[in-house]
Amino acid sequence: MNTMKAAQISKPGGKWELVERDIPQPGAGQVRVKVEACGICHSDVLVKEGQWPGLQFPRVPGHEIAGRIDALGSGVTGWGSGQRVGVGWHGGHCFHCEQCRRGDFAMCINRKITGVDFDGGYAEYMVAPAAALAAIPDELPAQEAGPFMCAGVTVFNALRNSGARSGDVVAVHGIGGLGHLGVQYARQMGFMTVAVGRGKDKEPLAKKLGAHRYIDSDAGDAAAELQKLGGARVILATAPNAKAISALVDGLSVDGKLLVPAAAAEPLTVNAISLIMGRRSVAGWYSGTAMDSQETLRFSALSGVRPMTETLPLERVAEAYERMISGKARFRVVLAIGA
Ligand SMILES: [Zn+2]
Ligand SMILES: [Zn+2]
Repeated sequence: MNTMKAAQISKPGGKWELVERDIPQPGAGQVRVKVEACGICHSDVLVKEGQWPGLQFPRVPGHEIAGRIDALGSGVTGWGSGQRVGVGWHGGHCFHCEQCRRGDFAMCINRKITGVDFDGGYAEYMVAPAAALAAIPDELPAQEAGPFMCAGVTVFNALRNSGARSGDVVAVHGIGGLGHLGVQYARQMGFMTVAVGRGKDKEPLAKKLGAHRYIDSDAGDAAAELQKLGGARVILATAPNAKAISALVDGLSVDGKLLVPAAAAEPLTVNAISLIMGRRSVAGWYSGTAMDSQETLRFSALSGVRPMTETLPLERVAEAYERMISGKARFRVVLAIGA
């Protein structure tokens, strides 16, 4: 059998197309991955709606991939056929630009994005550069490993590089695809973990995920509530709501940092006096490299952090994508593929 099933988009705003394609061959420095699961990320909208500059169609999206190496291209060392691997948002780097020469591969100016610059995981097979592979620990099933490759690494890496120390107050704003993982990581990293969500109904879940405190932002001023706890050293803003994110700056402690790993459509509006008087900052966070993803997988296996997922087969990609877009999914929709 030389063909495979794939789900592709062939024009901006186009519908999902289930197609038979030739199974791709790995080139030099690449491996072929037999995909077992692929999470659906909100960023897949960039492909679906053609919002990424220079995007070429047709394109198979998907950058929360878990599977097994199925074939090795020439020159690949350190990886073996049959090995369980993940491929995430970071789809490789050039090794020769100035950022790469500094060792900051995530900031490579020629970096590639899986499922955007080349075909991703909404297919039975995909090809990835060996530099984009993360080893998956045995105890993580593919459907749980997939979401760690974008949602997981983004929040894990943001928190572990945030400067917060054990016992510091760390708030996670939004209990969704990113936030439900952020709360678990914050707790497991030893932070005083505060979940900030809309409505009282999210409280039991936030507590179950490990939050020491829950703040209902609909019930009052979330920033004031954070100040009652001394202010948050870090606020991880995972809900893409510019107004809500902006309002949280006043909930930061002295030297506190508001970290933004997910893009809101509207600009943030921040009170500069609040930044100055408390030496506070607002900063973006960008995903991570394959090694960051591997460390995310390892920490998650070690600490019991797991995504909450809904699983659908590849054939139901349109329905799965709709679950994600509608915000009804609890919390990550994963396509089960092959095996
Ligand atoms: Zn993503
Ligand atoms: Zn580079």
